[in-house]
Amino acid sequence: MQNYKNTFSQANYELQSHFSTNLMRNTLSHALLFQGLDPEKNNQFLLYLSAMLLCHDAQNKPCLNCQSCQLVFLNGHPDLTVIKPEKKTSGIKIESIRDLNEPVYRSPQLGCHRVVMIQCAEKMNVAASNALLKLLEEPPDNVYFLLQAAQLSTMLPTVLSRCQIWRIGDESANYLELNDFIGAMRSDDPDLAKVIDNLPALFADLELVVKQNKQQCAVAAKWVDYDLYALATILYWINAALIKSLLGQPNPVSQLTPLLPHLTLPILFNQIDKLNTIMRRLNQSIAINALLTIEDFLLGYQVV
Ligand SMILES: [Zn+2]
Repeated sequence: MQNYKNTFSQANYELQSHFSTNLMRNTLSHALLFQGLDPEKNNQFLLYLSAMLLCHDAQNKPCLNCQSCQLVFLNGHPDLTVIKPEKKTSGIKIESIRDLNEPVYRSPQLGCHRVVMIQCAEKMNVAASNALLKLLEEPPDNVYFLLQAAQLSTMLPTVLSRCQIWRIGDESANYLELNDFIGAMRSDDPDLAKVIDNLPALFADLELVVKQNKQQCAVAAKWVDYDLYALATILYWINAALIKSLLGQPNPVSQLTPLLPHLTLPILFNQIDKLNTIMRRLNQSIAINALLTIEDFLLGYQVV
């Protein structure tokens, strides 16, 4: 295990590329500690990293699409253990760390790794810290420990010395304005080009459906003019961008920002599933009623 300290500030996306490269090379430290003042954002980042470690896709980790990725974000992955204080004001007790002793030595159920995520690690009491230290000194095979802490001053130096420490600073904004997006998506395919030419209207329609939860039928009647495969391709890109934004990555299109407060990860994963099904059926030349399919898709943005 590497036990050197590496403390500096980086934008999140640079961190991600660092971790994915090291994961590919099998040189990722088995104990990573992320310090930052925004626990919510940092925890989302840790979930993202967990998905990267547990994802089944060989190339594109996290794919955000496989069973493992989805289970991570639905808080139901059998190889991901999350430890946090029971209440905001309470500490992390030794029992929580002792409970790890059994699962970390079991083989992973779905893939090759297990992940232990410890939120608010600065709230571990001394006994809990020492119990964790034992695990970090002789880490079980294929287990990654991801720790999040608001500050390091209350943590045991011996625990810190076993972790690679990263400071998560302010995210640098990386907005791609609509015109750049259209330029980047420019396509020779006339069906795709037709959807891209109408992106501003498409975003406006989507905002109506997502924010006000109405007009699904009227919007579907409009969108049925597009080639369904081309429409699904663009909607796939938009939903993937929304997922990444909800996970705290820079939002590539500022026009999508107003939608974010009205969406959740399960809704968006469900929409991605629907788009996958639509594209698979079209690829297999299965007849589809485009109007009903689009209506059904748009209704999927409702919070149940
Ligand atoms: Zn995946």
